[in-house]
This record gives sequence, structure tokens and C-alpha cells, in this order.
Amino acid sequence: MSDFPTQARVVIIGGGAVGASALYHLCKAGWTDCVLLEKNELTAGSTWHAAGNVPTFSSSWSIMNMQRYSAELYRTLGEAVDYPMNYHVTGSVRLGHSKERLQEFKRVVGMGRYQGMDLNILSPDDVRSRYPFLETHDLSGALYDPYDGDIDPAQLTQALAKGARQMGARIERFCPATSVTRENDEWVIGTPKGDIRCEIVVNAAGYYAREVAKMFGRDLPMMVMSHQYMLFDTIPELESWSKEVGHKLPLLRDVDSSYYLRQEKYGLNLGPYENPCRAHWATPDDPFPQDFSFQLFPDDLERLEWHINDAMARVPLLAKANLTKVINGPIPYTPDGNPLIGPMPGVPNAFEACVFTFGICQAGGAGKVLAEWVTQGATEWDMWSCDPRRFTGWEDPDYCVKKGMEVYGHEYGMHFPHHTWPEGRMKRLSPVHDRTAALGAQFGPYNGWERALWYARPGDDTSEAAQQTWDREGPWFGAVREECLAVRDACGILDLPGFSRFMLTGDGAAAWLAAQITGKLPSIGRLGLAYFADDKGRIVTEMSVARMGEDQFLLITAATAQLHDKEWLLRHMAPGLSLFDASEQWSCQILTGPKSRAVLAACSDADLTKGWLTFQKARIAGVEVYLFRVSFAGELGWEIHTPVGDTAQVWDAVMAAGKPHGLRPFGMFALNSLRVEKGYRAWKGDLSTDYTVLQGGLERFVDWSKPDFRGKAALAAEKQAGVTKRFVTLTVEAGECDPPYMSTIWHEGRVVGETTSGYFGHRVGKVIALGMLRADLTAPGTAVEVEVFGTRYPAVVQEDAPLWDAKNERIRA
Ligand SMILES: Cc1cc2nc3c(=O)[nH]c(=O)nc-3n(C[C@H](O)[C@H](O)[C@H](O)COP(=O)(O)OP(=O)(O)OC[C@H]3O[C@@H](n4cnc5c(N)ncnc54)[C@H](O)[C@@H]3O)c2cc1C
Repeated sequence: MSDFPTQARVVIIGGGAVGASALYHLCKAGWTDCVLLEKNELTAGSTWHAAGNVPTFSSSWSIMNMQRYSAELYRTLGEAVDYPMNYHVTGSVRLGHSKERLQEFKRVVGMGRYQGMDLNILSPDDVRSRYPFLETHDLSGALYDPYDGDIDPAQLTQALAKGARQMGARIERFCPATSVTRENDEWVIGTPKGDIRCEIVVNAAGYYAREVAKMFGRDLPMMVMSHQYMLFDTIPELESWSKEVGHKLPLLRDVDSSYYLRQEKYGLNLGPYENPCRAHWATPDDPFPQDFSFQLFPDDLERLEWHINDAMARVPLLAKANLTKVINGPIPYTPDGNPLIGPMPGVPNAFEACVFTFGICQAGGAGKVLAEWVTQGATEWDMWSCDPRRFTGWEDPDYCVKKGMEVYGHEYGMHFPHHTWPEGRMKRLSPVHDRTAALGAQFGPYNGWERALWYARPGDDTSEAAQQTWDREGPWFGAVREECLAVRDACGILDLPGFSRFMLTGDGAAAWLAAQITGKLPSIGRLGLAYFADDKGRIVTEMSVARMGEDQFLLITAATAQLHDKEWLLRHMAPGLSLFDASEQWSCQILTGPKSRAVLAACSDADLTKGWLTFQKARIAGVEVYLFRVSFAGELGWEIHTPVGDTAQVWDAVMAAGKPHGLRPFGMFALNSLRVEKGYRAWKGDLSTDYTVLQGGLERFVDWSKPDFRGKAALAAEKQAGVTKRFVTLTVEAGECDPPYMSTIWHEGRVVGETTSGYFGHRVGKVIALGMLRADLTAPGTAVEVEVFGTRYPAVVQEDAPLWDAKNERIRA
């Protein structure tokens, strides 16, 4: 007991695969003064019973990166720490039953290739040659992933733990963290064996993460699902085949039927993601247990019956096998199914690496990401997909349960660009929601706020089924075109609830803000776009800055960026300044198009001669509003900012005034089309920490004459060395689909860049892609190709100016 560590630099709470990997990677980064606390034995949570599948497949670039890294790590880990492990790299076949599924596979092949992986598409006959026991008559094809396989999760955890111990870390088993307190800028972690004081703490408590988070006063957005797999005994035919060929079958995933089927010794392991499915510990009569170490839920095979039959039809061999064991264990889910890795919102020196749905295949990469957050305050890859701050606190238990069940029930679902998932909706409604709905608005959630995506006309198909396509054109296309053209020729209005907005005040606010952003501050009464870089010059965020006074600023940013941006501002804030989050108090409507001045003249007392990038207080329908003379759509226009309670009154007045001018409501799809034509970047698509400010083509927002600003040294060095890749606008002669995020750009048979946005521009009548291209190829007119769902289409690099209204004459009109 005297040996118990009372002091450490980092304490990790939770000893599953993820906690162990976090510990290992902290040690690899040189932070060896770390202690991991495990309430039971290592792996006692979800890890011990996991099936251990290690796919690299993901349709998300960052998640694929994390899984690819894991697979690479696992190949060498056993030898590196001298802990031999059962890790079988069997490859996998992922079956496709439809054209859309094959398109998904082709996109993933392209992303995989860009990450250095050789995934490929198989014809039904090719699949059979790799998987002889398979019925293929109804398949369209398959994806072959040679890096896929399975690992023993307990051995993986022990190997990571051994490696960490060898480097000097401590692991305390049977030692729960029971309290946390903050004393003198240190954390004091209470355990039955004594207190540990530490600088930094990490919540890696798996499905217990919500309980651990409560100790920090935080309500974690998560829920717990039950997931089952069935083990079938040796099948003589499979045994003799395996012995003859000398290897196992590739892992099979029938994603359209929603299950995996894996060879386990000479038997099989079948794991469905069923729908309807079962949540646990989600209602008052099923409370969360104090301890569930090494426990399972009772078997419940009835709800898997459809999948069992389907798998038997697909692999008839399975029907000959005896079921020997069922594992039914808890898996935690966040509302979007991705884990939480990164800073704990609102809590100093605390991080999260928890709520993993695929924590075995992601543990390796997650450990790397977590260690970077802790030791460097930033990650190599942009990891917004897993950042805890993407949830901003409104996600109530009902929402978490509904979304968790939806994600589980569609674990292999395709994420189509015009599709919105139906569960957990209508949680945050604009005061004019009923009005826009009555006009035909089809909604989609943005940080929970329902915004119009497009306005259906009488007869337009608004069914969910119609959204299940990668194609550009669907029922929305004609309506979106009309909306865009109304904005071009008359004017449009878009209700935009949920912007994040912060009031920054205090003596010295201007000097402080100037040192945070790369560019110039606007003068009083004016607005500007501001870019925040990190110390490496990478793009952290973009905000609209309105200068209300010498030291008084309103900062406006994306709805989902609320916690991220607030935390960034507070983290660097100078003493004496104050930041007030006014996001909940205000709402916004965009009024834009050549007739918007006439509309405002008819309903407001505003001075409409004030130029672009100015703002003013004005009255509409007796209500005091702020008018910002900007337009993300790239036409003459104003953002109308109203106190939330007055939004409907203002909407009604503007709509009435707009009637004679052809005012038409438009949605987010149209806004996307309009902004892409202007080359306006979207946060966490075109703007991310994967790129520097110079790569992002934002040098016009860099004021080199300032004595200093965050990232200046790194950007100056980059400029001197030469920027290697640069932001470009491309027009693409694409086929039926617009280029999705991370479509590769080709030149003379080599990949030379990637797209970050792709959409059809209705004003210019072309498919436009924004992206990053090797710097020597960015001359206007350069011919390249963009790979869209496996096919390469001709594309041309455009001038470094907006495709629509290159001189900004319309917006300044
Ligand atoms: C049936 C099934 C099959 C699965 N198959 C796969 C698969 O094939 N591939 C895959 O990638 N994933 C799979 N998963 C998911 C995977 O098991 C989890 O994502 C993964 O194990 C999570 O690891 P973790 O370290 O985050 O959490 P856990 O393994 O749950 O570890 C958390 C640890 O924290 C400890 N703890 C909790 N509270 C405290 C406290 N207060 N103090 C100290 N310690 C604490 C717990 O005892 C536990 O050991 C499967 C899950 C199930 C249920």
C-alpha cells in the first residue's frame, strides 16, 4: 500500500483497450509519469468480450485515419513490447447489394488509396474465389480490404499496458476513482487506496464514462446499447478448407443485411446490428449498475432471428454449425456514433477518450490522438469528428437514446448528402418554424436547430426514400434551382437559428484580439472575417467580427462551433477581458438578392446607403434589430439579427414587404450552392487544422505588418520555404454526382490533391469543387481530374477569384 502513487502528471481513469492505448502513447511521447486507474481488472468493461474485429473501412476520412493507424500499430506491437498476440490479418469482404452501395465502396477505395491502402472492388465471381462458401447470385459486388482482421482484445490491452509499464507508467488495478476535486490548479483523484494529485486527468471509462463525467460536473451525451454475437462450433468443411489453403476465411460483412460473420478457429462468429434493437440503462426502472465488471446481459436471440436466417442463406455452411455461445454485452454510443476524444468541455486540464462503439479497432489511433491533445494541445490530423465539443450541451437523454438506437440500427447505413436521419429531431426550433414549415420547408438539424434545407413545391417527393441517393438530382433539385435563381434575380430569405455569438469587452480587447487573428481588425461600425491560427499556422476557426466600440466586439461563428470557439477564446484570454455567450438570446435571418434593398426600404428605417461590411441598428416592425451588410450567398444582402422573441414579428414584416419584389424563402442546399460559387469556405470542411492559413488561400486575411499574432512565425517560415499545396476552385465535368469530401484530384496519373467541398452552382450552371492542390499545379486553366465514386472526371483550375461575380460588384451594389 505504501507503494501507492500519490502524485502523477497524468491520471487515466479506465483500463480498457482505449485507456491502455492512451497510457502507451503518452509514454511514447515521453510523458511517463502517468498512472492508470482501473476499478476492476484490466479489460473488465466492454473490452474483454469484444469480437475483436479490426476494420480500416470508414466513410469518414478522420476515422479511417485512426483505424488505419491502429491496424499498422497492431502489426508490430506484439514484437515491440515482447507480448505475442493473436492478431489475424485475414482481409475482409464487404458485400454490396445495390448500385449505391458500390458507389460508397468506390469512394472508400479512393480515400483508402490516398491513405496508402490498397482496397479494391471485387465482382461477385471474385468474391467467391476468396470466399468459396458464399451465395453471390444477388450481389452487385464487394469491397476487399486486405488489412482487415481480428485481434484478441484482452491481449491487445495487456500488450499496450506492458509497453507502457516498460516505459515507466504505473497501472493500479482494483482501484476505482471515486471522487475528483480541484485544488491549487491540480486535480486530486480520490480512490480507496488514497488520493493521487495530478496535473491532467483523462476519462477513459468506456460505458461508465457518464458516471465519471458527473464527478467533473459534466453531463456526457451518451447511452448504452446491447450488442450480441454468436459463436458456432467447428464446421468440418471449413476446417478442411482452412487446412488445405493454409489460412482463414476473410471477415465477411453483409452490410445491407447488417451483420458480420467471422471465422473463429474452425467455427464462425455471427454478429448482427439488428433493428429493432435494445438500449440498456436508459429508463428509471433499469438504473445504471454500480458495477458490471465482466458481466453480460442475458441472451436475446429472438430479435436476431432475421439476421441468422439471412446469414444462413448467404453462407449455407452456417446452417450446419452448432451454436455454442452467445455474448451479449454493453456498447456505449454517442448521438452520432463517434467516440469522444479531446478536451473535456468547460473543465481545465481534463480530457476524454471514451464512449467508443468500435474501441478495439480505434484504440490504437485514439491513443495517439489523445496523447497529442494532452502533450501538445492539438492533434496531427483534424479530429473534429471525435471532438467532445461537437456536442454543445442541449442533447438530453431522450435525444441520446433515440440517436444511439438509430445509429446502432443503421450501423452500416450509407450517409447520403441530401439525406437527414429522422430520429431525435425537432429539439430546437426557430420562432418561425411553423411559418417556414407551412411554406414547404424540409428541415435538417444544425447543432440541433432545425433549418430549412429546401422548400418543397406541390407534388415534390418529400419521402425519406427519395433522399437515398448519391446523385446530385433528386426531388430537391428543381426547387433548389428556383431558390438560387430567386436570390440571383430578386431576393431570398433564409431563417438561420443557432449561430454562436460572443460579446468580447474590456480594456485592451482590441489589442488582444488583434494578436489572436491573422488579419486586421475592422474599424468601429464595420465587420470583417477573421481567421484564428494555431501555433503551427493551421486554421483553427473563422469568425465574423463586428466592432461595436474601441474595445467591444461581437464575434459570430458556426452553430456547432459554439463550445469549440468559446473554449479557444477563453483558453487564450487576457486577464480583465470578458466574454459573454449570447448565442441563446439572438437569432438571424439572411435577406439577400438584388431586390433586398427595396424590401428593407419598405419595412425598416435603416440607412441603406451604408456599404458592404458595415452594420447598424435599425427598426423593423417596431423591433430593434442589427443589420449586417454581408451575404454568404454572394449577392447584395443583409443579415438581420433579432432578439429571439422578436424573430417572428420581423419575419412577417419582411415577408410582407418582400411580396411585391418576388421574395422567396430558400434553404441550406441553395446556400451551399451559392457559397461554393463564391469560393466561400465552410468550417470543418474547407477550413480545418489539416491546412494552414496559407494553404487555405487566405493570405489576404494575413496582416504581416502586425508585430505578432498566433501562428505568425510558422506562417512566415512556410511562406519563405514555399507553400506546398494550395486552395483552388475547380469546375468539374462530373457525371451524376457531385464530388464528396476528400475526393482525390489527379494529374498525369498521380494523386495531387483532394476536394473539400463539391456542389452544383446554379448561377454558373457548373459542378464546382473546392479543394487543395499541389502548389505547382494551381495555375488557372490547368487540366486535372477529380475522382468521383471511382470515376475520374475532367476538371479545370479556375482563377483565384469567385466564379460568380468575380469582382464582388453585386455584393457591393
Ligand atoms: C459484443 C460486443 C462485440 C464487440 N466487438 C467489437 C469489435 O469487433 N471491434 C471493435 O472495435 N469493437 C467492438 N466492440 C466494442 C468494444 O468492445 C468497445 O468499444 C471497447 O472495448 C471500448 O474500450 P474502452 O477502453 O473505451 O472501454 P472499456 O473496455 O469499457 O473500459 C473502460 C474501463 O473503465 C473502468 N472504469 C469505469 N469506471 C471507473 C472508475 N471510476 N475508476 C476506474 N476505472 C473505471 C472499467 O472497469 C473498464 O475496465 C464490441 C462490443 C460488444 C459489446
